[in-house]
Amino acid sequence: MKKLCAASCTAAFLLVPCGLFAQQSPQLPALKQEAVAEVDKLQTLTQQMVDEIFSFSELGFQEYETSRYVTGILEKNGFHVEHGVAGVPTAWVATYGSGKPVIAFITDIDCIPRASQKPGVAYHDPIVEGAPGHGEGHNSGMAVNVTAALVLKKLMDEHHIAGTIKLVPGVAEELLGTKAFYVRAGLFKDVDIVLGAHVESEFSTSYGTGNGEWSGLVSVQYFFHGKAAHAAAAPWEGRSALDAVELMDTGWDFRREHLRPAQRSHRVIINGGDQPNVVPSEAAVWYYFRELDYPHIKDLYDLGNTIADSAAKMTGTTVDHKLVGSAWPPYLNKVIAETQQKNIEAVGMPKWSDADQTLAKALQKDIGAKVEGLKEKVDPLEEPVKKPTGGGSDDIGDISWNVPMVYLMYPANIPNLPGHSWANGVAMATPIAHKGSTAGAKVQAMTALDFFLQPQLVQQAWDYFKNVQTKDIHYETFLSPDDKPAIEMNKEKMEKFAPQLKKYYYDPARYKTYLEQLGIQYPTVKTNP
Ligand SMILES: [Zn+2]
Repeated sequence: MKKLCAASCTAAFLLVPCGLFAQQSPQLPALKQEAVAEVDKLQTLTQQMVDEIFSFSELGFQEYETSRYVTGILEKNGFHVEHGVAGVPTAWVATYGSGKPVIAFITDIDCIPRASQKPGVAYHDPIVEGAPGHGEGHNSGMAVNVTAALVLKKLMDEHHIAGTIKLVPGVAEELLGTKAFYVRAGLFKDVDIVLGAHVESEFSTSYGTGNGEWSGLVSVQYFFHGKAAHAAAAPWEGRSALDAVELMDTGWDFRREHLRPAQRSHRVIINGGDQPNVVPSEAAVWYYFRELDYPHIKDLYDLGNTIADSAAKMTGTTVDHKLVGSAWPPYLNKVIAETQQKNIEAVGMPKWSDADQTLAKALQKDIGAKVEGLKEKVDPLEEPVKKPTGGGSDDIGDISWNVPMVYLMYPANIPNLPGHSWANGVAMATPIAHKGSTAGAKVQAMTALDFFLQPQLVQQAWDYFKNVQTKDIHYETFLSPDDKPAIEMNKEKMEKFAPQLKKYYYDPARYKTYLEQLGIQYPTVKTNP
């Protein structure tokens, strides 16, 4: 920034302070054009990243191959990488440049259990039966952010643009497992702006509470401890931990009627005992408690603990619990969103081919969704809804309450899909994901340039953050000082499937695309009988 400004200021504007002159940013349109051209030049690398990470298919906290691959690319390109940050082995921070502003890019890297799916095939056809797969499309996020970062690095070097780029992976996002820990570890302390990116079927951004379909949550596991005994010969000697789990679930379900409609809570029993003739001495249940804001989430968490304690009392067992994830509902920055929206509109939707549309429509038909193909238009930026209804969660929420942030939704998937399923993986290593990721990278790079070259915009984003967003609400973490990232989760599942998945890792040295490696005709759709 300083160097760009100095060169221009010396000519005709000797008396104009640099800051004022910088507001006009005469170089900005040209730099953005250059960024777009450079992203286009990296299309092959972008496609390879999409395909490679898709083929790794790693569950939360077990993203070892993915992190090794992505940090390898960044290190080769001169980024400094710190590994294993915030006590999470697969987390890292990659940095390039120096000074202010500091712009951080974040995007998730983990996948979904049992979502293995052949790309480009419009019906359920797993690569490895029962294995994890990118049934959320997180494999495309790093392709977006790394492509943008490589282009920005080139432009910063060539044009002497001051500032720092950071890249951070969303490890175990599906478990809401890390970002509160990142915040606690101070990863965003010196960061001015955060540009998050997430796969979608549309090209959009939002601010405030957006469409209102965000909840925050705590994710808690309850472990009941009883006493084993012969279930037929001496059941009176036993105390069943499974009884406690069932009574907790029943208690919660009765209480549900008397909770605010905004709450959403769900559970899975992660340990129901070993075999029927042994009174289960150990049993465990895992709850997600979702609500719209910190105090209500905290209330649900407290209520969950009370009901667990009561179930333990009823059954003569004991209980302890472990928080394994947490998330504030995201709140996004208006100044950054308005800036980003202009870039989204300038880039526009990718040009879909007939094959892309055929795949999309065939999949929508197969799963019984509305058949309308891929989106072709960008919608205008919408005002946040007045009354949020809640819905899913994302632990970027915690970051968004600590630094001005937006969440770019880039168009790399098919509309009307159920989410968290094999169907959401169908497009994710096809030209739909490749083109959508390239489009997303352009917007990420352009938006970063907006903030690198216009310091007053950074200031405005912080004014909104301080005077609007956090005027009355202050961030408090759900984590207690003893809570640690649940890094052992998914270890067994991944160890089971990794040897089978390895056979299908993408090899870009031998195959142009992953579709080519798998020998998949694009698109593969059911033929009518
Ligand atoms: Zn996600």
